[in-house]
Amino acid sequence: MTGWMDTHCHLCLLKDEQGSNHDVMLRARAADVHRVLDVATGKDNWQCVLNHALAFDDVYAAIGIHPTSETLYADADWQTMATLARHERVLAIGECGLDFYHEPESACGHQYERFERQIELAKQLNKPLIIHTRNSSPQTLAVLRDVGQGKITGIMHCFVEDKTVAQQALDIGFYISFSGISTFKNATVVHDTIGYVPLDRMLIETDSPYLAPVPHRGKLNEPAYVAKVGERVSALKGIAPEVVRSQLEINAKLLFALT
Ligand SMILES: [Zn+2]
Ligand SMILES: [Zn+2]
Repeated sequence: MTGWMDTHCHLCLLKDEQGSNHDVMLRARAADVHRVLDVATGKDNWQCVLNHALAFDDVYAAIGIHPTSETLYADADWQTMATLARHERVLAIGECGLDFYHEPESACGHQYERFERQIELAKQLNKPLIIHTRNSSPQTLAVLRDVGQGKITGIMHCFVEDKTVAQQALDIGFYISFSGISTFKNATVVHDTIGYVPLDRMLIETDSPYLAPVPHRGKLNEPAYVAKVGERVSALKGIAPEVVRSQLEINAKLLFALT
């Protein structure tokens, strides 16, 4: 039996009313979600995501620094991150990238430095990257090309860009992950991009607790709802849900070297 994988969620940021992580994972399994990648956003939750990956067989961790993380990172922090990232339950480095939505690019020098260091770590550990890019796709792709030197792969997470940007990400060997935004009626650019990206280069995610898909839009999101994203991809592509599900599972296994 194949299952869905939520390739990007933040279990450490779920709210009390969503119940314990145990409850959240029971609901995920009941919705045929077989794997969950719990993604860190900074040093405040590195240990938290790793603890989840150690507590649940079907939860894995990604360790990294979000571009808008306000914490300062000393050399000792970078060393801690490199040590934790080496753990076999840590599948990827991230989320990292560039985000010029909250700050103008001119104020974002530190974002480039952090991003480049995390790409170097991914290269060194031979693990994929989880990329966050907002109002910054040309710059993000340029850094991935220059620093990655063709030696890295990963996921463009919560993708909302058009086909041209999608093609550039595919050209450098990245997978493209779609979120609950795909279920929103007015997200026509995302719908077009889903039609364009080949199924064997695609993944899906919730980014929970944010961006709950229809019919849960506006409420808290959780990994169980990734099935709604999979069903939306199936409808947009005109491909049966079982076929979508098994291809996305093959993609995740290949990218994360899972058995
Ligand atoms: Zn993100
Ligand atoms: Zn995220």
